[in-house]
Amino acid sequence: QPSETPFAALITPNAPIAAQSHGGRAKCLQRLVRLDLPVPRTVALSFDAVQAIAEGQMPDLAAVLGEFPEDALLCVRPSSEDPDWGGPGAVLNVGMNDARYVDLCDSLGAPAAAALYLRFVQSYAVHVARLDPDVFDETGDDGPEALSGILQAYEAETDEVFPQDRGEQLAAVLRSMARAWDGTTARLLRQAKGAPVDAGLGLVVQEMIPGLGQGECGSGVLQLINSQTGQPQITGRYLSQSQGRDALGAGAAALYLEQDPRGTALADVAPEAFAELKAHAALMRQRLREAMQVEFVIENGRVHILDGVRVARSARAAVRIAVALAEDNIISPQEAVMRINPHALNELLHRQVDPEADREVIGTGIAASPGAATGRLVFTAAEAQASAARREPCILVRRETSPEDIRGMHAAVAVLTEKGGMTSHAAVIGRGLGLPCIVGASTLKFLSKEKQLVTAEGRVFKAGEIVTIDGSSGQVLAGQPAMLEAALDDAFRTLMGWADAERDIGIRANADTPADAQVARNFDAQGIGLCRTEHMFFDPSRLIVMREMIFAETSSGRAAVLARLLPMQRGDFCELFRIMAGMPVCIRLFDPPLHEFLPATKVGQRELSEALGIPVRDVTRRVEEMGEYNPMLGLRGVRLGVTVPEIYDMQARAIFEAALDVSEDGTPVVPEIMIPLVSAKREVELVKARIDAVAAAVKSERGIEFEYRLGVMVETPRAALRADDIAPHTAFLSFGTNDLTQMTYGLSRDDAGRFMSDYVRQGVFPEDPFHVLDIEGVGELLKLGVQRGRKTNPGVTLSICGEHGGNPESIAFCRDAGFDYVSCSPFRVPVARLAAAQLAI
Ligand code: PEP
Ligand code: MG
Repeated sequence: QPSETPFAALITPNAPIAAQSHGGRAKCLQRLVRLDLPVPRTVALSFDAVQAIAEGQMPDLAAVLGEFPEDALLCVRPSSEDPDWGGPGAVLNVGMNDARYVDLCDSLGAPAAAALYLRFVQSYAVHVARLDPDVFDETGDDGPEALSGILQAYEAETDEVFPQDRGEQLAAVLRSMARAWDGTTARLLRQAKGAPVDAGLGLVVQEMIPGLGQGECGSGVLQLINSQTGQPQITGRYLSQSQGRDALGAGAAALYLEQDPRGTALADVAPEAFAELKAHAALMRQRLREAMQVEFVIENGRVHILDGVRVARSARAAVRIAVALAEDNIISPQEAVMRINPHALNELLHRQVDPEADREVIGTGIAASPGAATGRLVFTAAEAQASAARREPCILVRRETSPEDIRGMHAAVAVLTEKGGMTSHAAVIGRGLGLPCIVGASTLKFLSKEKQLVTAEGRVFKAGEIVTIDGSSGQVLAGQPAMLEAALDDAFRTLMGWADAERDIGIRANADTPADAQVARNFDAQGIGLCRTEHMFFDPSRLIVMREMIFAETSSGRAAVLARLLPMQRGDFCELFRIMAGMPVCIRLFDPPLHEFLPATKVGQRELSEALGIPVRDVTRRVEEMGEYNPMLGLRGVRLGVTVPEIYDMQARAIFEAALDVSEDGTPVVPEIMIPLVSAKREVELVKARIDAVAAAVKSERGIEFEYRLGVMVETPRAALRADDIAPHTAFLSFGTNDLTQMTYGLSRDDAGRFMSDYVRQGVFPEDPFHVLDIEGVGELLKLGVQRGRKTNPGVTLSICGEHGGNPESIAFCRDAGFDYVSCSPFRVPVARLAAAQLAI
């Protein structure tokens, strides 16, 4: 042992104890001792000591035992560096033997003495001697007879009498706990919680205060906060004549602390002890700078504090607790911001399944849009609309979704698809609408014709049956579990305000519709970073016009349809500009993967034939003609702009006219226009020349000068590689990492969902690259693009607008790369704001 870390140290205010060498529990107990709280004598064993014990080198325990009265019972508890990493279960009443039993029968009474001994024998038999738990686990009966029964059973199983020597007992307990830490399951569990491979375990040996005996004796836990809401409320349980955390498992037998609707509470049974406990908990909050749960024992009316642990908390409670600590000047606002995991905010922003509720999981898929909703299964968009008309919440189930399903998605409370990944149609629209969504649910069989879902076990769910979609976990649940509402309360707003004060990278939202823009405003986005204009045509009445436009075979035919689209677009843009009130709005010119807009079903084709006044046969023929083998790499984005330039002309005009109209109301608008799917400089030159011409025309028609900014999306590998060519022609470069990921990997964003979970499980990809930016590959292209773009245009604005823009890890990358802002789905804006603030603190 290094001399500065003795293998065991009595916990005193100045003992050399640290979380890194003795674990969080030992350190916390030392803090409680420093606060002069009534903590029983405790000795802490260091990580090194426990490691040596696990390897078979038992130190001389005389030094440990010498710290305690000769007849004291002891308890041993784990002390890992971070208490969340867990550890082996505590062992109570070490030191019980036949002689102590006889003594305690006198002082505490036979039932109490038997219960103490029995508990020790049980845990020793199961956890130390590793005997059959079926024989030794709780029998329900804990009187003297049960005790002699279990002692006999022990002897029968081991051919030895139950060890009577306290030192021998302690050594065996320490060894078994030290070895349990090295077990495979324990290792995997803690690594899943973020523990390093070589995480150490400390152990604490504490004098037992029995909690059984004469007068008011018992044990319990107390906290000053409701773990679900984070609101001040004294919660916990107390059980007379009990030990450890028995009160929590005791059901109705345990008392509430302050007020028990069923009768007496701890405050009635032991008012002074209760008042003392409250004061201790308040002191712990003040000095440990954290909401703590107090584990206590009452011994004939006297309070003992055995331990303090961080109050377990839901995400919403975590926010309220951190904000309250900062408001009480116990921690700084920055620290409050640092204490909240940005991913956990998702729980607050959406309704969620109550974590306490029972979950009957019938299938799983990719958690594509967070939140939870319950409804009846429907299998077509039309049924979803009919259900909504009856005011019956419904879940839209599709193999995958297309624009024809949009109306159904609007009508549904959640969406479930068999195919697709994080950036498939259903996922993107779901997130935009704030609609819980699971895609790629390959564990379920989708029988669309029969209108049935079949689980892996063969259980059938028919149309009309009630299920719940948990888009936060990717679980499909049977029935209707209890839910918690979204919690955008004052504490949340306060925290976000503190976060914004620290942040040094801009956060915008991807918003296509006025409703999206409103959500973006509500979440304090600093503008719109991507308005996908093709999404403005998902509305059923618009979709048909859009299709007419795509179908127009002649230039004059197209011009007529575009003339109808112009006022619609102008109206859309006016609304967006008004809602965003002078903040930047970046509008992307049409990027319709055509297959998403062509009517795939007979019904859709018939509707279109009516609208166009041509036979269905012709529609079908045109659909076939326009069909592409690989539409995601086909006539999309700027390729459409170059080959059918009138469409972008119309959009540019709509944008300029809307900007002028809204500017007249007093808010000057400088619109941003973005060109999608660029791969060559010439594409930019061609489009730019036409847009400049439209601007000039609008300026002369209106007689007003105005500004606008033209930008390029970098979403093909070539655009990143040739960014030095492109940058001089553009005011900004916005990285579209959805397509860039798709093209870098050669991995279809719409099909990857089928095997992504296999790939992640087998460690081919560390994560879904459509979800978390692939820094090694796609990130390299981003870096090249940034470097080359800056070389020829040092002032170029840089941003990201793929789904990664809302992912905390990806934001860190963008910030390091010097991006000006990130843009993400409106509902992810708060997550991004918090993550960005943490990077800056
Ligand atoms: C992208 O490709 O990253 C992007 C933002 O565009 P879309 O998702 O609309 O293809
Ligand atoms: Mg794209």
